[in-house]
Amino acid sequence: MGFDPVLEAKKIEKEIISWRRDFHMYPELKYKEERTSKIVEEHLREWGYRIKRVGTGIIADIGEGEKTIALRADMDALPIQEENDVPYKSRVPGKMHACGHDAHTAMLLGAGKIIPEHIDEFNGRVRLVFQPAEEGGNGALKMIEGGALEGVDAIFGFHVWMNLPSGVIGIRDGPFLAGAGIFSGKLIGKGGHGASPHETKDPVPALAELILAYQTIVSRNIKPLETGVVSVTSVHAGTAFNVIPETAEFKGTFRFFKPEIGELIKKRMDEIAKGTAIAHNLEYELKIDELTPPTINDSKMAGFARKVAEKYGLKYCEVPPTMGAEDFSFYLQMVPGAFLALGIRNEEKGIIYPHHHPKFDVDEDVLYLGTAMEVALALEFLK
Ligand SMILES: [Zn+2]
Ligand SMILES: [Zn+2]
Repeated sequence: MGFDPVLEAKKIEKEIISWRRDFHMYPELKYKEERTSKIVEEHLREWGYRIKRVGTGIIADIGEGEKTIALRADMDALPIQEENDVPYKSRVPGKMHACGHDAHTAMLLGAGKIIPEHIDEFNGRVRLVFQPAEEGGNGALKMIEGGALEGVDAIFGFHVWMNLPSGVIGIRDGPFLAGAGIFSGKLIGKGGHGASPHETKDPVPALAELILAYQTIVSRNIKPLETGVVSVTSVHAGTAFNVIPETAEFKGTFRFFKPEIGELIKKRMDEIAKGTAIAHNLEYELKIDELTPPTINDSKMAGFARKVAEKYGLKYCEVPPTMGAEDFSFYLQMVPGAFLALGIRNEEKGIIYPHHHPKFDVDEDVLYLGTAMEVALALEFLK
């Protein structure tokens, strides 16, 4: 007879929470997930998984069959000093699980425990992917290079979500998180005495114009019904009151949902930098790095996730897109799947602080629902 993933997950709820607290107390930054991945690997070996190591990442398979479903969690923490006063507060100064990846690892570990106990009911192979370095390290790419998607028919991942009420699963078709890139550049002129500007080529007023002109990329170049972000976040020129500097430097980030919008932003940033330099008789340099593509859920897979949630009585809703970025997008470029959100906002418990905030926390009482959904997705996909 079939088993109920929700009941099974509820049974190991305490264990899931204690894993999460342990990971929370000992956070590790990107590509340094030694302790976390060791604990994960030890459990998975004990439960009978076939393990492949990819640096601090783990690919773990169980079961056999024609189809393979992959479930992914990220394990890295952030360089943030925790400000929560809780028993499981980070024991490592300056490091904190402020995005909930401790919860993702614990939830998937929970699924990893339940699945082998009922492996006869899974008509195929389940692959667990515990990846390093989601926070600005593109750990997903390392895992893909390491074979994480070989033979995979579908992939799902969870992120705990502060903008959803606790226990509700957010499922979205199409673009969910934005594509993200960074840029840095400089205008190069000729320095000199602050009292003799005519003998210099001053990059400072030119940079002011460039920054303002960058604001028109979103307001004047992108179609009003599309979205994008261009933020100049760092500006630097000069050191003295009376010296016109030779260079003025700037840095920032840009976001988009559609690849063609990303291309448009990059093109306009370059044209504006070039045009500003010409207008002021300066040279310019501009370096643009696209870091992460947009996270675009496959609508069939999102529909499948809704059906699974429905079948097992899990609460779900549509979740609005955000301009944050996720390297889960790399998996979704290669295989169909969906990135799901698990609501963890609980006003009564004071769990209201946004991701990456020093007071970020998760409502632990709903983590078993993430585990349940992961098990249910695998069970139903492999039917
Ligand atoms: Zn994050
Ligand atoms: Zn995250």
